[in-house]
Amino acid sequence: MTIAKHIAEALQASSWIRKMFEEGTVLKARHGAERVCDFTLGNPNLPPPESFKKALAQVALDPAIDHAYMSNAGYPETRQAVAGQVSREQNRPVSGDDIVMTCGAAGGLNVILKAILNPGETVLTPAPYFVEYRFYVENHGGRLVTVPTTAGFGLDLEALARAIDEKTRAVLINSPNNPTGALYPATALSGLGQLLAEKSRAYGRNIYLIADEPYRDIVYDHVIVPPIFDKYADSIVVTSYSKTLSLPGERLGFVAVNPDLAHKKDLLAAMVFTNRVLGFVNAPALMQRVVARMPGERVDVGQYARKKEMLCDILTECGYQFTPPAGAFYLFPKSPLADDVDFVRRLQQELILAVPGSGFGGPGYFRLAFCVDDRTIENAAPGFKKAIQAVQ
Ligand code: PLP
Repeated sequence: MTIAKHIAEALQASSWIRKMFEEGTVLKARHGAERVCDFTLGNPNLPPPESFKKALAQVALDPAIDHAYMSNAGYPETRQAVAGQVSREQNRPVSGDDIVMTCGAAGGLNVILKAILNPGETVLTPAPYFVEYRFYVENHGGRLVTVPTTAGFGLDLEALARAIDEKTRAVLINSPNNPTGALYPATALSGLGQLLAEKSRAYGRNIYLIADEPYRDIVYDHVIVPPIFDKYADSIVVTSYSKTLSLPGERLGFVAVNPDLAHKKDLLAAMVFTNRVLGFVNAPALMQRVVARMPGERVDVGQYARKKEMLCDILTECGYQFTPPAGAFYLFPKSPLADDVDFVRRLQQELILAVPGSGFGGPGYFRLAFCVDDRTIENAAPGFKKAIQAVQ
């Protein structure tokens, strides 16, 4: 064996997801990419807002801008601008010192987890969940424990209460959710805050609440994502500009720490250190300068809303069962076959690519990412119909 055993095992465990991906590539080569309706990737298809190009050009041409190393936490002016935005979202005054700029939410999650996890400690997350969480937690010697959700994929506080024990270091939530599109209301988050306060007291340790929020700005029907800082003191927000500004390749995000978090200074110092030693060193310099110049900007969410409606109408008309997403750009319908992998294969026969729910800890469902061209959605309609009719 030339690679680490746990990496070989991780590759094995996720091998059928890769297999699906490879099968999709074969289909595209055989039938032509334009004939295959690919709903597998959460890669935003909308352009960044116009203000992005202007800010990028300004920064690129500014002779005063350098490209040197900086504080591992990021530029003070960017952290200040981000703090202003987080203060508005969280209804709490947050300072630039409470912010660490990171390489996307993925980098931010790894920075947090490395800072807080002792070997064998657990992180709880409601399932279905973003599949990379398990790898991120295991990167730092921890163990991911999944907790069921309610019907409609809401937080199940009783299940969470049962799952928390003396090894629990953090609860990791993601709202709006990938893959389900669920959004947790303020009442559920208040309940979670209370539960974590009780359990922290009972076990004599601080259990962190980590809110992974890259889809905060992508919401429908005027709902808002409630703040968490007023619900629980030991809370941390991690997010990125990947979806909000359609910049996933630019790898910029941040971690915001609740100003009331116990041992806040220690945690921030630890994260500045982990950002460094994980090899990120600091978040991309140019992008930090750019986003500081465009606070509050976002992609045209109305376009995602329209795509969501189109896809919901098609699936409803075909007879699929699903809960319409409150946010993010995913639909998570029930698989008409008990075996979701089988049904995804059935969809492939119609040249439609989807991801089985099993890959997200949600067997019996499948995920459709609708951050795609309108044409892809329209062209898929007959195939969705044929696939469900064939198994009914
Ligand atoms: N968290 C969730 C729930 C995601 O869906 C993603 C990406 O799809 C990430 C984190 C990582 O995103 P990024 O590192 O690009 O910010």
